[in-house]
Amino acid sequence: RAKAEFDRRICYYEHDMDEQARQRRDIARDLWTAVENNGFSLAYQVQKSVASGEITGYEVLLRWNRPGHGNVSPAEFIPIAEECGAISAIGVWVLKMACLEAASWPEPCKIAVNVSGIQLAQIDLIDTVRNSLFMSGLAPHRLELEVTETSIIGDKNRALHILRQIKAMGVSIAIDDFGTGYSSLDTLRSFPFDKIKIDRSFMNEVESDEQSKAIVRAILALGRSLSVPVLAEGVETREQLDVLRKEGCTEAQGFLLGRPGAIDWNDRLEPGLRA
Ligand code: C2E
Ligand code: MG
Ligand code: MG
Ligand code: MG
Repeated sequence: RAKAEFDRRICYYEHDMDEQARQRRDIARDLWTAVENNGFSLAYQVQKSVASGEITGYEVLLRWNRPGHGNVSPAEFIPIAEECGAISAIGVWVLKMACLEAASWPEPCKIAVNVSGIQLAQIDLIDTVRNSLFMSGLAPHRLELEVTETSIIGDKNRALHILRQIKAMGVSIAIDDFGTGYSSLDTLRSFPFDKIKIDRSFMNEVESDEQSKAIVRAILALGRSLSVPVLAEGVETREQLDVLRKEGCTEAQGFLLGRPGAIDWNDRLEPGLRA
């Protein structure tokens, strides 16, 4: 009986594995089709100064409406795009589109673009950035690349070389999801970054839990002593924003300040100027 049960489980397990692998393969195939057919779009999420409430920039977030399946989260499809190689083509498209869009904005805000670890290992990222800036006419200081700590664990020297070249053009670099990688402090020491983005997991209970608050406070102190601005991600409540203001956080981003989507420029005008 035990053997039969074992066989049944193995069989179930294998079936499960096949099913998962098959799903990933289907997603990979659809991703490649989306690359060819312009199947992606971009959403923008506002970033604001904590002290003044002024808009400092927008982060670009990739959106994919998968035919027959609806919207798929980038958290789900980016890892598959990295695995199947589509991320390079997708990354080129995102950078090009983001720069073109930003160059047409009525106000010269910053635009922050996420870059995958795979792209950071490819020398041609330098050309992609240069071409995107050149073709769009976007001023380099308006572009910021967001890289995660975990995306630079591959060939560190190569990533460092690429980031330095990109910085030399005048583009800035932000460390995304700070605190969730396993070598945060080492990353800070060796990489030429211009902003720290505190991962949104630290925002949970920051207003009520002393431990969370202590960690956020420590990251803010780190930013101050390194003279690097700190942005808090995932700010959802007024209470969280109040804590951040009190603790001297530079910028904030999150559902409270604005959900990702299209930019409503009218919203930015003085109330008296609205149509
Ligand atoms: P991320 O760069 O850390 O982006 C922030 C994510 O948090 C976004 O999820 C955003 O919608 C979500 N978010 C923003 N504010 C709040 C909030 O107040 N509460 C909560 N619960 N969530 C909030 P999204 O758009 O699903 O993207 C997930 C991740 O996918 C991004 O994390 C980024 O790592 C990756 N990603 C998105 N677009 C791109 C891209 O163009 N290229 C690459 N390589 N990765 C991308
Ligand atoms: Mg990001
Ligand atoms: Mg993040
Ligand atoms: Mg994140």
